Amino acid sequence: MAATPASSFTLITMMLPGPDRKRVPSPYHFRVTYRNPNTGEPGCVATWEVRGGRDEYQISLERSDAAEMIWHCTCPDAVYHAEYRHHCGCKHVQGLKQIYETLGNQPARRQPARAVA
Ligand SMILES: [Zn+2]
Repeated sequence: MAATPASSFTLITMMLPGPDRKRVPSPYHFRVTYRNPNTGEPGCVATWEVRGGRDEYQISLERSDAAEMIWHCTCPDAVYHAEYRHHCGCKHVQGLKQIYETLGNQPARRQPARAVA
């Protein structure tokens, strides 16, 4: 049996501008590699692995002490183009945000599963 109990570790595939100069749309695969069960606390909320580009990248979503959501990506666009940090992120982050907005299931806005005594 190959069944995994971690059903929230979803694989999402979406088309994004490709890594070549023509930016031909290519499939990118996002896989949740970590999800913090305590989503209300500052720190890392979730991480994703991105495949499909030139390299494999890692996206992470961090909640600051001010409850601000900060996206990080290890791709060159996010690392070398500082302006991306102040806007909506690189194409990977934009794609991922789009998915969660479409699903209406922001990882950061999930209700606590149950009250802790
Ligand atoms: Zn990126």
